[in-house]
Amino acid sequence: MFDSLSEKLQGTLAGVRQRGALTDDDIKAVVAHELGHVWIFTHHPYLQTEQLANEIAMRLVTRESLEPVYAKVQKRIGDAVGAVDLARNLGDTPAADH
Ligand SMILES: [Zn+2]
Repeated sequence: MFDSLSEKLQGTLAGVRQRGALTDDDIKAVVAHELGHVWIFTHHPYLQTEQLANEIAMRLVTRESLEPVYAKVQKRIGDAVGAVDLARNLGDTPAADH
């Protein structure tokens, strides 16, 4: 299972790099955000929110490095997911996530 996931991740990252969609700083910000989710998964009360994942991410990367990633996601798939509440996700307003 992990081999398969690892291969998928490698393929995805290679595709992202080839298309130039994300800079190295963007990729660092994405990995930091996802590590935030991993941190939450291992810490009581295990409450997964985008805001908390970003709070943890900001131990490793700056808020300014997360912002362009949100902008790129919004531009690329915004029609499918609707408007991303950047202010809430980056902790400017209280989380309303589940
Ligand atoms: Zn997330």
